Amino acid sequence: MALGVMAISLVTLLASRDAAVEHAHETSRNVTAVLVSNIARTIETSDNSLRALIAALDKPAVQALDPDLRHELLFDRTAAEYVTGMGVTDNKGRLIDGCCSSSHIWDFSDRDYFIAHRQSANVGLYVSSVYRARSRPGAQSIAMTRRVSQPDGSFGGVAIVAIDVEYFKRLLAKLNVGPNGITAIVRTDGTLVARNPPISQARLVNLGNSPTFPRMVNHDSGFYSAPSISDGVLRLYTFQRVPGTPLIAVVAPAEIDVLSSWKRLSWIVGVSASSVSLAFCTVVWLLAFALRDHAKTQVLLTELTQTDPLTGLRNRRALDEVLENEWRRLQRGDGSLSLLFVDADNFKQYNDRHGHAQGDIALKHLAECINRHVRRHGDLAARYGGEEFVVVLPDTDKTGAAQIAEAIRQEVEHGRPTVPSGAIPPFTVSIGCATGRRSLPSSLDELTNSADLALYAAKRSGRNAVVSADDTAASPQPQN
Ligand code: GH3
Ligand code: MG
Ligand code: MG
Repeated sequence: MALGVMAISLVTLLASRDAAVEHAHETSRNVTAVLVSNIARTIETSDNSLRALIAALDKPAVQALDPDLRHELLFDRTAAEYVTGMGVTDNKGRLIDGCCSSSHIWDFSDRDYFIAHRQSANVGLYVSSVYRARSRPGAQSIAMTRRVSQPDGSFGGVAIVAIDVEYFKRLLAKLNVGPNGITAIVRTDGTLVARNPPISQARLVNLGNSPTFPRMVNHDSGFYSAPSISDGVLRLYTFQRVPGTPLIAVVAPAEIDVLSSWKRLSWIVGVSASSVSLAFCTVVWLLAFALRDHAKTQVLLTELTQTDPLTGLRNRRALDEVLENEWRRLQRGDGSLSLLFVDADNFKQYNDRHGHAQGDIALKHLAECINRHVRRHGDLAARYGGEEFVVVLPDTDKTGAAQIAEAIRQEVEHGRPTVPSGAIPPFTVSIGCATGRRSLPSSLDELTNSADLALYAAKRSGRNAVVSADDTAASPQPQN
């Protein structure tokens, strides 16, 4: 049961962990979708400005305008707060007109967007990688660019809308992904556009080296968990590509934050389940001990009620039980059952001569003596009462019983046992034997009666004798 409680707790906790991760994924997916739609709208607005700029440049009427008037017409409405620059270069990369900066003739021929458009007429909207703006020292921008074609279709330059990277950083900063989470916008080439919290230049790594980055590049959206290659924190990454651009929005709460309340719950459930299980086991253990002690006491009590305290042999109660059982067993088969009635000779006198205490010692010795000869499984030696003993010998015929009886008689007569208080004064025993078979005699009482009569015959014959029951019918014959 304790293991069951633990197992149920474990399964429940694992399920609630999965639910916590799934919930975090759901939240991240929503946040990522909002982020992507924000970026997409910004890019779409910038692209619209680019298209309008290129369309206007193509118009002969605009081309014929006075340069100041044309500049005013083309660039003075560039008001979006995130746009830090807008302009047009010639086919050498030199800025020929633009807004938001000094009138310096900047050369952008080394920029990735310029090279891309010069090499191919089919690039369409090109989103550049992050660069340091020349007109705003230290500030970072990315450029949305489109190719400007000459009337003959040849490369005429590039139209540019530059967006402050700070804008993306502010966008990311609005999203709450927990104390150890990150939000980021990365390019498919592995370069970082913006990240919240910001990362120092020293710890900046190219994400292209991350083993999980190809997953981001090769799918429009997805979810996975992995340790960050910049700080090693295990995060749950949800990413989504900004459609039509190389930008990928990434929302990655840290696993430690996602699972913090689950961990608290795990502790509570774990400690409670363990305590309950431990308490349960302890109670069961104590109960088991109490039951075992009880059972032991029970066995001991049964033992005591069936044992004779002086000799340690079975008492009359146990004897009656065994006799009944053996008699019933005898009626079921074709075996034999022998009984020996052993009685100490002239024991009254023995007591009178040597004292009752010495008599007790002699009885103990007699019991040991009987026990030594009754060792077969199923045999039983019992103290019938006083100085009388009964031996039950299942599956023993008349001859076998007489032999055992004779062996007991002889050992009592000739044995010279000593105890710490000295030698035991000699005494003798008389033994009556009776053997029964199925239905012969007809009852147990008759069988015991026969053994008793045989004993009586042994006494009459002068004691210190063994007499078998069949012999009693005629004239008991002492065997000594
Ligand atoms: P017999 O040879 O005919 O059996 O003579 P007996 O004296 O042994 O028989 P009787 O029945 O007259 O006396 C039995 C004696 O056994 C009486 C009693 O003092 C003694 N006795 C019975 N139980 C105990 C016992 O537990 N301890 C001692 N020391 N003596 C006992
Ligand atoms: Mg006696
Ligand atoms: Mg007696």
